[in-house]
Amino acid sequence: MLEQGTISIHTENIFPIIKKWLYSDHEIFLRELVSNAVDAIQKLRMVARSGEYSGDVDHPEVTITIDKENKKLAIADNGIGMTAEEVKKYITQVAFSSAEEFVQKYKGEGENAIIGHFGLGFYSAFMVAERVEIDTLSYREGAVPVHWTCDGSTEFTLADGQRTTVGTTVTLTLQDSELEYLEPARIRQLVRKYCDFLPVPIKLEGEQINRQIAPWKSAPNSLSKEDYLEFYRYLYPFQEDPLLWVHLNTDYPFVVNGILYFPKLRPDIDVTKGQIKLYCNQVFVSDNCEEVIPRFLLPLRGVIDSSDIPLNVSRSFLQNDRTVRKIADYIAKKVGDRLKELYREDPAAYVRLWQDLGTFVKFGSINDEKFKKQVEDILIYRTTAALTSKERDDVWAAEGGIQVDGKTYTTLKEYLERNKERQGNRVYYCTDEVNQATYVQLLKSQGIEVLFMDSFIDTHFVPWLEQNYRDVKFLRVDAELDETLIDKSKESELIDPTTNKTRSEQIKALFESVLKKPKLTIRTEALKADAPPAMILLPEASRRMQEMMAMMQQQANVQLPEEHILVVNTAHPLVQNLLSLNQGTIIQTSGTSETGTLVEKLCQYIYDLALMSQRAFDANGMQQFTERASQVLTQLTTMATR
Ligand code: ADP
Repeated sequence: MLEQGTISIHTENIFPIIKKWLYSDHEIFLRELVSNAVDAIQKLRMVARSGEYSGDVDHPEVTITIDKENKKLAIADNGIGMTAEEVKKYITQVAFSSAEEFVQKYKGEGENAIIGHFGLGFYSAFMVAERVEIDTLSYREGAVPVHWTCDGSTEFTLADGQRTTVGTTVTLTLQDSELEYLEPARIRQLVRKYCDFLPVPIKLEGEQINRQIAPWKSAPNSLSKEDYLEFYRYLYPFQEDPLLWVHLNTDYPFVVNGILYFPKLRPDIDVTKGQIKLYCNQVFVSDNCEEVIPRFLLPLRGVIDSSDIPLNVSRSFLQNDRTVRKIADYIAKKVGDRLKELYREDPAAYVRLWQDLGTFVKFGSINDEKFKKQVEDILIYRTTAALTSKERDDVWAAEGGIQVDGKTYTTLKEYLERNKERQGNRVYYCTDEVNQATYVQLLKSQGIEVLFMDSFIDTHFVPWLEQNYRDVKFLRVDAELDETLIDKSKESELIDPTTNKTRSEQIKALFESVLKKPKLTIRTEALKADAPPAMILLPEASRRMQEMMAMMQQQANVQLPEEHILVVNTAHPLVQNLLSLNQGTIIQTSGTSETGTLVEKLCQYIYDLALMSQRAFDANGMQQFTERASQVLTQLTTMATR
């Protein structure tokens, strides 16, 4: 038998178009040919199961062979095979017309617009081959082997072939520009990328080169913790282990399988780039599924496999596709459910993971209204409150909140409820436990509860909280003095007859004249016992402004704004001694007397100490501080030893 024919075609020649439009993605030909081979094997299994075929189907295998000398690459399967009629029908008609249709559609979409370049199928071989041959033998009784060949023009030949076993071999003679596909390493890489999880062994040089097992297709209860971790490490080698995972698996009303992992988020994470791999029937499609999952889930990792996501359409179409929208909602809901389940069933584990999970939950809440509603009640904060918990360290405390490893966590609702009487609707928060330690300590000593908002996302999260809880006032610990800190009993003061000023007015004037900072506001207050001699306050609104500016200019550190408040604690012995030293007079010129210079230095020193609790020194400030410190101490010791 020898038949020559012309492929019926409406475009003059689609090969140049295929080449042109798919230029950057030649490599997908291997995915197409290998998945056809695997399909053929699965079809033969089905036929065998129905009793129409009694040959061996227990050793399925796709074999890739490289013949460098003749520039040939062959993909062979022991699948269903094709008769001459089937080759004519499926290859020269169906495959060709679907390729043509695909190219027509693709033309308008521009480079890389189509999500998986699926739909091109068999004819993608011509992106890399100057000649394609098919040797095939159908499983049907009495079938004769067929040899089909085509050189990329619209002409083909169909003749009797040599094949003796059921199955198909597709042999490509590569174009000179495509010889990279003769390198075993390149083929391994491609099989690993696209076909790693196909359920049939794929062999090269006598060795199986695909992993074959797709864990996301297994039943969740058949997988151990170690299985999930091992799969993660396989997908993302050399990365820290994930915190938690969600196994997706549904058949109705759409098919979605997958495993999503929560990785540890880093401050430098690019939340616009996803790392979730999209698969269709275990064949890798794409590394980015921005269009398929809600944006806030992009930081997750893992695999989503769905045959219900249309792949031969443009990305913009995908976003508006109803099924895709529903799939996205389903995934988001599953993720929220998983978090709630953990919160409910193992609160201690939830709390331990919170430092890392929290970033994600907050990011999701900010970005997605539906998700926010889902996780609202499981947003927790570390708190300074010492709640009395039951015997064990990790149980919910009687007043709400939970203690784990000696740290206490609470929800905002519980915080407000607990502190209703004392604080009204005010929430005190700390963004830096070390730098703001003095403030936190002071508030704590007055029985005020402080929440820690110290993750990198909190700069965005606090304003968001404010928008969502409009009747609640959020104050950073250094934003203002809480009423309870002021010692009312020491407030009334006598007026000094010589200067006609109260002590407070004298202290204020003294500091103003020494520090000479026009933008610095000096306030005097009699504070309670534990308070330091002076503190810096940064009013909430102006500090936020500063933070926003820093963010816009991408500065890593927010500098202390020039406009801040220095609260001098008139009740502190140091301040009182200072005033006695100054003998009620205001220094006019510096360095006039020994005591005069000491008073000046001490004022500066007290300010330095306040700055120090804010960690507000730059290198220069630090150096000046050390210098001043030794001067003050020298002068004091000189005076004392006299
Ligand atoms: P698709 O796989 O999307 O149907 P293709 O262009 O890849 O499109 O293939 C067209 C048809 O050719 C397939 O549906 C199948 O019937 C047949 N075919 C392709 N490769 C093989 C093979 N290795 N074994 C048996 N049949 C094949």
